[in-house]
Amino acid sequence: ASADTGAPTIFDKIIAKEIPSNIVYEDDKVLAFRDINPQAPVHVLVIPKHRDGLTQLGKVEARQREILGELLYAAKIVAAKEGILDGFRVVINNGPTACQSVYHLHLHVLGGRQMKWPPG
Ligand code: 5GP
Repeated sequence: ASADTGAPTIFDKIIAKEIPSNIVYEDDKVLAFRDINPQAPVHVLVIPKHRDGLTQLGKVEARQREILGELLYAAKIVAAKEGILDGFRVVINNGPTACQSVYHLHLHVLGGRQMKWPPG
């Protein structure tokens, strides 16, 4: 498991388009692109374009609360675009115990198959 050092991550390179990604949705605040290692037929990551110290949800400050709504609403747009509005899951892995591996806040949007609960 990686640690939250606050250092820039691979997602900054994806935002800068220095490394390619398969973009599903983009606006001035958020970017949504397909996960390189998909865990479902639809697996899209939704990230803030300006990380602004947002490495993990547990470190979000009150002044940053607005971006949380932007990310969650973008997840809904992604689900609509991908045709999975009838059934999808939004996940945030927070910290090593939850298997977070990239310390740039991100939502996973998963769908296109039957999900299980609890996720394990
Ligand atoms: P986490 O485990 O931190 O919640 O999720 C990080 C996700 O980023 C993983 O699902 C992983 O497959 C994905 N990922 C890591 N590096 C890249 C990359 O370079 N491109 C894309 N598209 N996804 C990546």
